[in-house]
Amino acid sequence: MPELPEVESVRRQLQPELRGRRVVKVWTDVQRRFHHPELLDGRTILEVGRRGKFLIAPLDGGLELVLHLGMTGVLHFGAADAWSRARIGLDDGRELVFRDARRFGTLAVVEAGVYDALPTLAHLGPEPLSDEFDPLRFAVALAATRSPVKPYLLTQRAVAGVGNIYADEALWLARIHPASRRVGRRRAYALHDAIRQVLRQALEREGTTFRDFRMLNGESGRNATFLIAYGQAGRPCPRCGTPLRKMVLGGRGTTFCPTCQRR
Ligand SMILES: [Zn+2]
Repeated sequence: MPELPEVESVRRQLQPELRGRRVVKVWTDVQRRFHHPELLDGRTILEVGRRGKFLIAPLDGGLELVLHLGMTGVLHFGAADAWSRARIGLDDGRELVFRDARRFGTLAVVEAGVYDALPTLAHLGPEPLSDEFDPLRFAVALAATRSPVKPYLLTQRAVAGVGNIYADEALWLARIHPASRRVGRRRAYALHDAIRQVLRQALEREGTTFRDFRMLNGESGRNATFLIAYGQAGRPCPRCGTPLRKMVLGGRGTTFCPTCQRR
């Protein structure tokens, strides 16, 4: 599932392709998670931005195109197939295809900044690599929640853009057990630093590649070989040598070190 580094890699590639282009034709599959795609027709894409895992493209007329790739969403220029959910025809003759086998992706056209139809976006926490992501406020949020720390991170409310992969990586780095409900200030600050570190590293490597994630140009990100925790159950912890263990937490597969990640 694409997280902040993957979505940012897609954004950087889309920006020069879509900026200033006018939409001349829109086709979509019938989708529960699609919201007024027809409003795209005739609009000019001013640029391609991002908040957390959402691509947000301001359009003329005070509208925004919001895209979330979900589990399996991919954007590409080229031929559509049976898994294509949307095709957006551009004034240069090309067609941007939104392909999404599992249909968890979102495509919405909304008034700029009005996210009533997109509750996760409406309640999105600060961007992790911006000054808005304040360690003290993060610590206060972690102290206030009753949820275990990893599922709480996945709600996107304390910080935007961290999903299953980078939550496992950051918690390992900060030595915090993913099911911990007692993250005090010192550990919250360590987690704040760890989140920034794993995201920065992944951004440099243009994201992590899995089955369903491809960058726009069909190349793959290079981060997968650098993962320490996520998907590495059974391998020795690089810090203490204990085999990493897998558990299910909040319905999500979670890998951690049972020795050096403390509750
Ligand atoms: Zn360990």
